[in-house]
Amino acid sequence: MDQQELANLLRKPPFDLVRLPAAAEKRMEAMFGREMTASQVVAQIIEDVRSAGNEALIRYTRLIDGVELTPETLEISQGEFAAVESQVDDQLKESINLAIENVRRFHREQLPRTWLTYRDHGAMQGQACLPLERVGIYVPGGKASYPSSVIMNAVPATVAGVREIIMAVPPARDGSVNPYVLYAARQAGVHKVYRLGGAQAVAALAFGTETIGRVDKITGPGNIFVTLAKKAVYGFCDIDMLAGPSEILIVADRTADPRYVAADLLSQAEHDELASSILATESPELAARVEKELDRQLALLPRRDIAAASLAANGMIITVADMAQAMEVANLAAPEHLELLTAEPFSLLPLVRHAGAVFLGPYSPEPLGDYLAGPNHVLPTGGTARFYSVLNVESFMKRTSIVAYTKEALAAAGEHIIRLADAEGLGAHANAVRMRREDESEKNS
Ligand code: NAD
Repeated sequence: MDQQELANLLRKPPFDLVRLPAAAEKRMEAMFGREMTASQVVAQIIEDVRSAGNEALIRYTRLIDGVELTPETLEISQGEFAAVESQVDDQLKESINLAIENVRRFHREQLPRTWLTYRDHGAMQGQACLPLERVGIYVPGGKASYPSSVIMNAVPATVAGVREIIMAVPPARDGSVNPYVLYAARQAGVHKVYRLGGAQAVAALAFGTETIGRVDKITGPGNIFVTLAKKAVYGFCDIDMLAGPSEILIVADRTADPRYVAADLLSQAEHDELASSILATESPELAARVEKELDRQLALLPRRDIAAASLAANGMIITVADMAQAMEVANLAAPEHLELLTAEPFSLLPLVRHAGAVFLGPYSPEPLGDYLAGPNHVLPTGGTARFYSVLNVESFMKRTSIVAYTKEALAAAGEHIIRLADAEGLGAHANAVRMRREDESEKNS
């Protein structure tokens, strides 16, 4: 197999090529009265929310999530927030608070600096780093609840200095939102929470409605409807990335513990039937033992059906000639999570060219990064680590250039600006400089 074939095998197809589960296809047909692809459904939902606002949000939440809302109940009330205090036990509160603190401490290190510097003739130039004003974070809630996603999206935004953080999360069948998610939202600094999921939530954040203010950027993971909606609204607002199903690639040598390798592969497989878990190893003995361990541990998992389906469709054990070749496989896959379970993991670190996050050694399992270590868990997937970064503080900031020239500095630069503007045929550009130069020479004559 050549490199390109291997890369194609390792990387997921783009989102709109992923087939929908049959149940979702049937549901969409019932909803719209004709066969539609996921992209078409998403486009229709966005258009409706854009033109009909809250009415469309309420209609789609009834049709898709089976929940009856009103304009007043779209937003989580203060009473619901207060009730959460008694629904979350003290130990979990302590863990959530510790996670928030660790994530905050890590992300503070990322704050970019605003700088100004002097150039010739007293000219000053620099760069201001400014926070986005309003950000929308999407927290998935269809198949499971993710307080950790609240933390990973909201905390960097607060560190960046975002003025208003708005969250959307799909409601459960009874209209409620998971109390752990709400507790994390309050603790992490979210200002408003709307019980909305899927494409309709993304559309509401991007375009606003009668009661929901539009945001400047939408971040956070979600299923295919969320991701296609983010892709469709990009340009009206910014988005973080197009996140697909989770992935892990483990590079291991013969010293790795097969139980750890299997457990870490399964930790991604249990996310989603589309998740992928890959082991690249030079040791056929390890490969065989990991296979046995996978069978043993899988049988004990509460989400074994999902994990088994994921392993069957996207699980892989690749035996390679040596560790350098294993790292080539890792770079071709550009995985979301890369674990280096070898005797000398730091010696492989310089060989990493593309990965969302790297975990070194037997005591850095990927779930450590999912929940508590501090780095963000919103990571590029599907090979996009070649060009996307992990969600970070700068994802919630923008850079503004600053220019302050003196008379002398403009005089020195003027001739070149005029020449360049004339070459582009932009006479007004040239004039803006020429006029100032002529004023100065008149004053001096
Ligand atoms: P979700 O919140 O992304 O999607 C639920 C919403 O999808 C529903 O509210 C509904 O509005 C919409 N929807 C469902 N079926 C539909 C249909 N037939 N037509 C139109 N809209 C429909 O929750 P989910 O489905 O559980 O997916 C969450 C995803 O996010 C999973 O793939 C999970 O692995 C991933 N995830 C990733 C991370 C990360 O950091 N990378 C973290 C948590 C979750």
